[in-house]
Amino acid sequence: MNFLTDEQQMWKDTVDRVMQEEVTCEYVRQCDIDRKYPYEAYDKIAKMGWLRLLVPEENGGDGGTIFDYALMCEGLARYGFDFATAFMVSTFTAMNICKFGTKDQQERFLPAFMAGEIRFSISISEPSAGSDAANTKTRSEETPEGWKITGQKLWCSGAAARNVVIAMLTRSDKEATKHKGLTVLLVPNDTKGLDIRKLPTMARRATGTTEIFADGAIVPHANVLGQPGDGWKIITDHLELERIAVSAAYVGNAQQAVTDATRYAHERIQFDKSIFEFQVIRHMLADMQTAVDAARLIVYRAAEMASRGIPCQREVSMAKLMASETLQTVTRNGMQILGGHSMLPEADMERYFREGMQSTIGGGTSQIQRTLIAKSMSL
Ligand SMILES: Cc1cc2nc3c(=O)[nH]c(=O)nc-3n(C[C@H](O)[C@H](O)[C@H](O)COP(=O)(O)OP(=O)(O)OC[C@H]3O[C@@H](n4cnc5c(N)ncnc54)[C@H](O)[C@@H]3O)c2cc1C
Repeated sequence: MNFLTDEQQMWKDTVDRVMQEEVTCEYVRQCDIDRKYPYEAYDKIAKMGWLRLLVPEENGGDGGTIFDYALMCEGLARYGFDFATAFMVSTFTAMNICKFGTKDQQERFLPAFMAGEIRFSISISEPSAGSDAANTKTRSEETPEGWKITGQKLWCSGAAARNVVIAMLTRSDKEATKHKGLTVLLVPNDTKGLDIRKLPTMARRATGTTEIFADGAIVPHANVLGQPGDGWKIITDHLELERIAVSAAYVGNAQQAVTDATRYAHERIQFDKSIFEFQVIRHMLADMQTAVDAARLIVYRAAEMASRGIPCQREVSMAKLMASETLQTVTRNGMQILGGHSMLPEADMERYFREGMQSTIGGGTSQIQRTLIAKSMSL
Protein backbone atom coordinates (compact mmCIF):
# COMPACT_ATOMS: atom_id res chain seq x y z
CA MET A 1 0.00 0.00 0.00
CA ASN A 2 1.35 3.41 -0.92
CA PHE A 3 0.42 6.26 1.41
CA LEU A 4 1.61 8.97 -0.97
CA THR A 5 -0.68 10.92 -3.29
CA ASP A 6 0.17 10.88 -7.01
CA GLU A 7 1.77 14.34 -6.67
CA GLN A 8 3.85 13.28 -3.68
CA GLN A 9 4.99 10.12 -5.47
CA MET A 10 5.91 12.15 -8.53
CA TRP A 11 7.92 14.58 -6.36
CA LYS A 12 9.72 11.69 -4.64
CA ASP A 13 10.53 10.10 -8.02
CA THR A 14 11.83 13.44 -9.32
CA VAL A 15 14.23 13.89 -6.39
CA ASP A 16 15.43 10.28 -6.81
CA ARG A 17 16.03 10.78 -10.52
CA VAL A 18 17.94 14.03 -10.03
CA MET A 19 20.14 12.39 -7.41
CA GLN A 20 20.80 9.36 -9.60
CA GLU A 21 21.34 11.10 -12.94
CA GLU A 22 22.44 14.66 -12.18
CA VAL A 23 24.16 14.62 -8.79
CA THR A 24 25.33 10.98 -8.80
CA CYS A 25 26.67 8.74 -6.10
CA GLU A 26 30.23 9.18 -7.41
CA TYR A 27 30.06 12.95 -6.85
CA VAL A 28 28.76 12.56 -3.28
CA ARG A 29 31.47 9.98 -2.56
CA GLN A 30 34.23 12.20 -3.94
CA CYS A 31 33.11 15.20 -1.85
CA ASP A 32 33.42 12.97 1.22
CA ILE A 33 36.87 11.70 0.21
CA ASP A 34 38.12 15.24 -0.49
CA ARG A 35 36.28 16.75 2.49
CA LYS A 36 34.92 19.25 -0.02
CA TYR A 37 31.64 21.16 0.31
CA PRO A 38 29.23 20.14 -2.52
CA TYR A 39 29.07 23.62 -4.13
CA GLU A 40 28.30 22.38 -7.67
CA ALA A 41 25.31 20.29 -6.55
CA TYR A 42 24.11 23.04 -4.21
CA ASP A 43 24.08 25.52 -7.13
CA LYS A 44 22.30 23.01 -9.36
CA ILE A 45 19.57 22.37 -6.82
CA ALA A 46 19.18 26.08 -6.09
CA LYS A 47 18.78 26.71 -9.85
CA MET A 48 16.04 24.09 -9.99
CA GLY A 49 14.18 26.16 -7.38
CA TRP A 50 14.12 23.49 -4.67
CA LEU A 51 15.33 25.87 -1.95
CA ARG A 52 12.03 27.74 -2.38
CA LEU A 53 9.93 24.72 -1.44
CA LEU A 54 9.13 25.51 2.20
CA VAL A 55 9.31 29.31 2.00
CA PRO A 56 5.77 30.80 2.17
CA GLU A 57 4.33 32.33 -0.99
CA GLU A 58 4.20 35.80 0.64
CA ASN A 59 7.98 35.58 0.98
CA GLY A 60 8.41 34.58 -2.68
CA GLY A 61 8.60 30.82 -2.08
CA ASP A 62 6.46 27.87 -3.14
CA GLY A 63 4.67 27.42 0.20
CA GLY A 64 5.14 23.63 0.18
CA THR A 65 4.31 21.44 3.16
CA ILE A 66 6.70 19.93 5.69
CA PHE A 67 5.69 16.56 4.22
CA ASP A 68 6.86 17.66 0.75
CA TYR A 69 10.06 18.86 2.37
CA ALA A 70 10.56 15.55 4.20
CA LEU A 71 10.23 13.70 0.88
CA MET A 72 12.92 15.95 -0.56
CA CYS A 73 15.27 15.32 2.40
CA GLU A 74 14.69 11.56 2.09
CA GLY A 75 15.75 11.72 -1.57
CA LEU A 76 18.69 14.10 -1.11
CA ALA A 77 20.20 11.83 1.54
CA ARG A 78 20.09 8.76 -0.68
CA TYR A 79 23.86 8.66 -1.29
CA GLY A 80 24.80 9.94 2.15
CA PHE A 81 23.18 11.90 4.95
CA ASP A 82 26.02 14.43 4.95
CA PHE A 83 25.09 15.60 1.44
CA ALA A 84 21.51 16.40 2.48
CA THR A 85 22.85 18.30 5.51
CA ALA A 86 24.16 21.06 3.27
CA PHE A 87 20.59 21.87 2.21
CA MET A 88 18.85 21.09 5.48
CA VAL A 89 20.90 23.32 7.81
CA SER A 90 20.36 26.19 5.41
CA THR A 91 16.59 25.71 5.24
CA PHE A 92 16.06 25.53 9.02
CA THR A 93 17.30 29.07 9.57
CA ALA A 94 15.55 30.37 6.44
CA MET A 95 12.31 29.13 7.97
CA ASN A 96 13.12 30.82 11.28
CA ILE A 97 13.58 34.06 9.35
CA CYS A 98 10.19 33.57 7.63
CA LYS A 99 8.57 33.08 11.01
CA PHE A 100 10.46 35.39 13.36
CA GLY A 101 12.42 37.76 11.09
CA THR A 102 11.69 41.42 10.47
CA LYS A 103 10.54 42.56 7.03
CA ASP A 104 14.04 43.94 6.48
CA GLN A 105 15.65 40.56 7.33
CA GLN A 106 13.19 38.69 5.11
CA GLU A 107 14.01 40.99 2.19
CA ARG A 108 17.75 40.95 2.84
CA PHE A 109 18.17 37.21 3.28
CA LEU A 110 15.34 35.15 1.75
CA PRO A 111 15.67 35.97 -1.98
CA ALA A 112 19.45 35.42 -1.73
CA PHE A 113 18.89 32.11 0.08
CA MET A 114 16.38 30.88 -2.50
CA ALA A 115 18.79 31.82 -5.31
CA GLY A 116 21.56 29.83 -3.59
CA GLU A 117 23.68 32.96 -3.10
CA ILE A 118 23.78 32.75 0.68
CA ARG A 119 23.54 29.77 2.97
CA PHE A 120 22.70 29.45 6.67
CA SER A 121 24.13 27.49 9.57
CA ILE A 122 22.75 26.98 13.05
CA SER A 123 25.02 27.35 16.05
CA ILE A 124 23.50 26.21 19.33
CA SER A 125 26.13 23.86 20.79
CA GLU A 126 29.15 24.92 22.84
CA PRO A 127 31.82 23.06 24.79
CA SER A 128 29.56 23.07 27.88
CA ALA A 129 26.21 23.12 26.03
CA GLY A 130 25.54 19.79 24.29
CA SER A 131 22.39 17.93 25.31
CA ASP A 132 22.03 20.74 27.84
CA ALA A 133 21.59 23.07 24.89
CA ALA A 134 20.42 26.08 26.91
CA ASN A 135 23.64 26.18 28.94
CA THR A 136 24.87 28.90 26.56
CA LYS A 137 27.96 30.80 27.72
CA THR A 138 28.74 32.78 24.56
CA ARG A 139 27.94 36.39 25.46
CA SER A 140 26.32 39.07 23.33
CA GLU A 141 25.92 42.68 24.41
CA GLU A 142 24.35 45.64 22.73
CA THR A 143 26.87 48.42 22.02
CA PRO A 144 26.46 51.64 19.98
CA GLU A 145 28.15 49.85 17.01
CA GLY A 146 25.92 46.77 17.16
CA TRP A 147 25.79 43.42 19.01
CA LYS A 148 29.20 42.35 20.25
CA ILE A 149 29.81 38.57 20.57
CA THR A 150 32.44 36.84 22.70
CA GLY A 151 32.74 33.12 23.31
CA GLN A 152 33.12 29.71 21.71
CA LYS A 153 30.59 27.68 19.72
CA LEU A 154 31.04 24.04 18.70
CA TRP A 155 29.82 21.64 15.99
CA CYS A 156 28.35 24.33 13.76
CA SER A 157 27.70 22.41 10.52
CA GLY A 158 28.35 24.08 7.19
CA ALA A 159 29.67 27.29 8.78
CA ALA A 160 33.00 27.19 6.93
CA ALA A 161 31.43 27.21 3.44
CA ARG A 162 31.21 30.30 1.18
CA ASN A 163 28.66 33.04 1.99
CA VAL A 164 27.17 31.60 5.16
CA VAL A 165 25.09 33.49 7.71
CA ILE A 166 25.16 31.75 11.09
CA ALA A 167 22.10 31.82 13.34
CA MET A 168 24.00 31.93 16.62
CA LEU A 169 22.45 31.35 20.03
CA THR A 170 24.02 33.77 22.54
CA ARG A 171 23.40 34.87 26.11
CA SER A 172 22.40 38.52 26.04
CA ASP A 173 21.34 38.73 29.69
CA LYS A 174 24.19 37.60 31.88
CA GLU A 175 22.00 37.57 35.02
CA ALA A 176 19.57 35.07 33.45
CA THR A 177 20.25 31.34 33.37
CA LYS A 178 19.36 28.47 31.07
CA HIS A 179 16.35 29.14 28.80
CA LYS A 180 15.97 32.82 29.71
CA GLY A 181 18.05 35.73 28.40
CA LEU A 182 19.04 34.00 25.15
CA THR A 183 19.21 35.85 21.84
CA VAL A 184 19.69 34.55 18.29
CA LEU A 185 21.95 36.74 16.14
CA LEU A 186 22.41 36.47 12.37
CA VAL A 187 26.17 36.46 11.98
CA PRO A 188 27.82 36.44 8.50
CA ASN A 189 30.73 34.00 8.61
CA ASP A 190 33.18 36.65 7.32
CA THR A 191 32.49 38.96 10.29
CA LYS A 192 35.71 40.40 11.73
CA GLY A 193 36.55 38.80 15.07
CA LEU A 194 35.27 35.32 14.09
CA ASP A 195 37.66 32.40 13.72
CA ILE A 196 35.91 29.38 12.14
CA ARG A 197 37.79 26.06 12.05
CA LYS A 198 36.57 22.97 10.21
CA LEU A 199 36.90 19.90 12.44
CA PRO A 200 38.40 16.59 11.18
CA THR A 201 35.30 14.59 12.13
CA MET A 202 34.61 10.93 11.34
CA ALA A 203 31.29 11.81 9.68
CA ARG A 204 30.00 14.94 7.91
CA ARG A 205 33.24 15.38 6.01
CA ALA A 206 31.87 17.33 3.04
CA THR A 207 29.41 19.78 4.57
CA GLY A 208 31.76 19.88 7.50
CA THR A 209 31.22 20.81 11.08
CA THR A 210 33.19 23.52 12.84
CA GLU A 211 34.23 25.25 16.03
CA ILE A 212 33.85 29.01 16.15
CA PHE A 213 35.77 31.45 18.31
CA ALA A 214 34.17 34.90 18.64
CA ASP A 215 36.43 37.59 20.00
CA GLY A 216 34.41 40.81 20.08
CA ALA A 217 32.79 40.14 16.69
CA ILE A 218 30.16 42.81 15.97
CA VAL A 219 26.96 42.42 13.92
CA PRO A 220 24.45 45.22 13.14
CA HIS A 221 21.53 45.89 15.51
CA ALA A 222 19.27 44.84 12.65
CA ASN A 223 20.64 41.26 12.85
CA VAL A 224 18.75 40.19 15.99
CA LEU A 225 16.31 37.43 15.03
CA GLY A 226 12.98 38.06 16.78
CA GLN A 227 13.37 40.06 19.98
CA PRO A 228 16.36 39.97 22.35
CA GLY A 229 15.52 37.23 24.86
CA ASP A 230 13.44 35.21 22.33
CA GLY A 231 16.30 32.79 21.68
CA TRP A 232 14.90 29.65 23.26
CA LYS A 233 11.48 30.03 21.60
CA ILE A 234 13.18 30.27 18.20
CA ILE A 235 15.47 27.31 18.85
CA THR A 236 12.59 25.09 20.02
CA ASP A 237 10.65 25.91 16.88
CA HIS A 238 13.75 25.20 14.82
CA LEU A 239 14.33 21.80 16.44
CA GLU A 240 10.95 20.40 15.40
CA LEU A 241 11.60 21.03 11.70
CA GLU A 242 15.23 19.89 12.06
CA ARG A 243 14.27 16.57 13.65
CA ILE A 244 11.61 15.76 11.03
CA ALA A 245 13.98 16.62 8.17
CA VAL A 246 16.96 14.66 9.52
CA SER A 247 14.74 11.67 10.30
CA ALA A 248 13.50 11.60 6.71
CA ALA A 249 17.10 11.87 5.53
CA TYR A 250 18.20 8.96 7.76
CA VAL A 251 15.47 6.85 6.13
CA GLY A 252 16.65 7.82 2.63
CA ASN A 253 20.24 6.88 3.44
CA ALA A 254 19.19 3.69 5.24
CA GLN A 255 17.14 2.56 2.22
CA GLN A 256 20.16 2.92 -0.05
CA ALA A 257 22.27 0.91 2.41
CA VAL A 258 19.73 -1.95 2.26
CA THR A 259 19.52 -1.74 -1.54
CA ASP A 260 23.33 -1.83 -1.86
CA ALA A 261 23.65 -4.72 0.60
CA THR A 262 20.94 -6.69 -1.21
CA ARG A 263 22.61 -6.18 -4.59
CA TYR A 264 25.96 -7.22 -3.18
CA ALA A 265 24.47 -10.31 -1.55
CA HIS A 266 23.07 -11.41 -4.92
CA GLU A 267 26.36 -10.81 -6.75
CA ARG A 268 28.89 -12.16 -4.26
CA ILE A 269 29.62 -15.85 -4.82
CA GLN A 270 31.08 -17.97 -2.03
CA PHE A 271 30.93 -21.76 -1.72
CA ASP A 272 29.62 -21.79 -5.32
CA LYS A 273 26.48 -19.78 -4.61
CA SER A 274 25.46 -16.23 -3.97
CA ILE A 275 25.68 -15.29 -0.31
CA PHE A 276 22.00 -14.29 -0.61
CA GLU A 277 21.32 -18.05 -0.65
CA PHE A 278 22.53 -18.33 2.94
CA GLN A 279 19.53 -18.00 5.21
CA VAL A 280 21.42 -15.96 7.77
CA ILE A 281 22.11 -13.27 5.16
CA ARG A 282 18.58 -13.35 3.73
CA HIS A 283 17.11 -12.92 7.19
CA MET A 284 19.46 -10.03 7.97
CA LEU A 285 18.28 -8.29 4.80
CA ALA A 286 14.64 -9.01 5.61
CA ASP A 287 15.05 -7.46 9.06
CA MET A 288 16.89 -4.46 7.58
CA GLN A 289 14.16 -3.70 5.03
CA THR A 290 11.43 -4.17 7.63
CA ALA A 291 13.18 -1.71 9.96
CA VAL A 292 13.56 0.88 7.19
CA ASP A 293 9.89 0.57 6.19
CA ALA A 294 8.79 0.98 9.81
CA ALA A 295 11.07 4.00 10.27
CA ARG A 296 9.72 5.58 7.09
CA LEU A 297 6.13 5.22 8.30
CA ILE A 298 6.84 6.78 11.67
CA VAL A 299 8.69 9.67 9.99
CA TYR A 300 5.82 10.24 7.54
CA ARG A 301 3.40 10.34 10.48
CA ALA A 302 5.40 13.10 12.19
CA ALA A 303 5.81 15.02 8.92
CA GLU A 304 2.08 14.76 8.16
CA MET A 305 1.13 15.96 11.65
CA ALA A 306 3.54 18.90 11.42
CA SER A 307 2.19 19.76 7.96
CA ARG A 308 -1.32 19.96 9.40
CA GLY A 309 -0.15 22.04 12.37
CA ILE A 310 -0.99 19.28 14.88
CA PRO A 311 1.27 19.36 18.00
CA CYS A 312 3.67 16.46 17.52
CA GLN A 313 6.73 16.79 19.76
CA ARG A 314 6.37 13.19 20.91
CA GLU A 315 5.90 11.83 17.37
CA VAL A 316 8.87 13.88 16.16
CA SER A 317 11.09 12.45 18.92
CA MET A 318 9.90 8.93 18.08
CA ALA A 319 10.76 9.54 14.41
CA LYS A 320 14.22 10.90 15.28
CA LEU A 321 14.91 8.00 17.65
CA MET A 322 13.75 5.25 15.34
CA ALA A 323 15.14 6.57 12.07
CA SER A 324 18.61 7.26 13.49
CA GLU A 325 18.83 3.92 15.29
CA THR A 326 17.65 2.22 12.09
CA LEU A 327 20.32 3.93 9.98
CA GLN A 328 22.95 2.87 12.49
CA THR A 329 21.75 -0.74 12.65
CA VAL A 330 21.24 -1.34 8.94
CA THR A 331 24.59 0.19 8.00
CA ARG A 332 26.39 -1.92 10.62
CA ASN A 333 24.71 -5.01 9.17
CA GLY A 334 25.47 -3.72 5.68
CA MET A 335 29.16 -3.62 6.62
CA GLN A 336 28.96 -7.25 7.73
CA ILE A 337 27.22 -8.37 4.53
CA LEU A 338 29.76 -6.59 2.31
CA GLY A 339 32.62 -8.21 4.24
CA GLY A 340 36.12 -6.84 3.51
CA HIS A 341 34.77 -4.91 0.54
CA SER A 342 32.76 -2.72 2.95
CA MET A 343 35.98 -1.07 4.15
CA LEU A 344 36.62 0.68 0.83
CA PRO A 345 35.19 4.11 -0.05
CA GLU A 346 33.98 2.78 -3.46
CA ALA A 347 31.59 0.48 -1.62
CA ASP A 348 29.91 3.53 0.03
CA MET A 349 28.80 1.45 3.01
CA GLU A 350 31.60 2.74 5.25
CA ARG A 351 30.40 6.30 4.55
CA TYR A 352 26.80 5.37 5.34
CA PHE A 353 28.02 3.62 8.49
CA ARG A 354 29.94 6.72 9.65
CA GLU A 355 26.80 8.81 9.11
CA GLY A 356 24.83 6.22 11.06
CA MET A 357 27.21 6.60 13.98
CA GLN A 358 26.68 10.36 14.20
CA SER A 359 22.93 10.17 13.59
CA THR A 360 22.12 9.07 17.14
CA ILE A 361 24.10 12.05 18.50
CA GLY A 362 23.51 15.12 16.29
CA GLY A 363 20.16 16.92 16.53
CA GLY A 364 19.57 15.55 20.04
CA THR A 365 20.85 12.15 21.13
CA SER A 366 18.77 8.97 21.32
CA GLN A 367 18.86 9.24 25.12
CA ILE A 368 17.37 12.75 24.96
CA GLN A 369 14.65 11.61 22.51
CA ARG A 370 13.72 8.77 24.87
CA THR A 371 13.60 11.26 27.76
CA LEU A 372 11.22 13.50 25.76
CA ILE A 373 9.01 10.54 24.76
CA ALA A 374 8.87 9.28 28.35
CA LYS A 375 8.00 12.79 29.58
CA SER A 376 4.96 12.79 27.28
CA MET A 377 3.90 9.48 28.87
CA SER A 378 3.86 10.81 32.44
CA LEU A 379 0.46 10.45 34.11
C1 LIG B 1 28.23 15.57 13.10
C2 LIG B 1 27.58 16.53 14.06
C3 LIG B 1 27.07 17.73 13.59
C4 LIG B 1 26.50 18.65 14.46
N1 LIG B 1 26.03 19.84 13.97
C5 LIG B 1 25.56 20.78 14.82
C6 LIG B 1 25.14 22.07 14.34
O1 LIG B 1 25.13 22.33 13.15
N2 LIG B 1 24.79 23.00 15.25
C7 LIG B 1 24.78 22.76 16.59
O2 LIG B 1 24.43 23.65 17.35
N3 LIG B 1 25.15 21.54 17.08
C8 LIG B 1 25.53 20.57 16.23
N4 LIG B 1 25.91 19.32 16.71
C9 LIG B 1 25.93 19.09 18.14
C10 LIG B 1 24.89 18.13 18.63
O3 LIG B 1 23.64 18.72 18.68
C11 LIG B 1 25.38 17.61 20.00
O4 LIG B 1 26.51 16.80 19.75
C12 LIG B 1 24.33 16.83 20.74
O5 LIG B 1 23.27 17.67 21.14
C13 LIG B 1 24.89 16.09 21.95
O6 LIG B 1 25.70 16.92 22.72
P1 LIG B 1 27.17 16.43 23.15
O7 LIG B 1 27.85 15.93 21.94
O8 LIG B 1 27.83 17.54 23.87
O9 LIG B 1 26.96 15.22 24.09
P2 LIG B 1 26.61 15.26 25.65
O10 LIG B 1 25.43 16.12 25.89
O11 LIG B 1 27.83 15.55 26.42
O12 LIG B 1 26.19 13.76 25.89
C14 LIG B 1 27.12 12.68 26.08
C15 LIG B 1 26.32 11.43 26.40
O13 LIG B 1 25.55 11.63 27.61
C16 LIG B 1 24.19 11.44 27.34
N5 LIG B 1 23.38 12.39 28.11
C17 LIG B 1 23.58 13.73 28.26
N6 LIG B 1 22.60 14.27 29.01
C18 LIG B 1 21.75 13.26 29.31
C19 LIG B 1 20.52 13.16 30.05
N7 LIG B 1 19.94 14.24 30.61
N8 LIG B 1 19.94 11.95 30.17
C20 LIG B 1 20.49 10.85 29.61
N9 LIG B 1 21.65 10.86 28.89
C21 LIG B 1 22.25 12.06 28.74
C22 LIG B 1 24.00 11.67 25.84
O14 LIG B 1 22.85 11.04 25.34
C23 LIG B 1 25.31 11.09 25.30
O15 LIG B 1 25.18 9.72 25.17
C24 LIG B 1 26.45 18.37 15.84
C25 LIG B 1 26.96 17.14 16.31
C26 LIG B 1 27.50 16.23 15.44
C27 LIG B 1 28.02 14.93 15.98
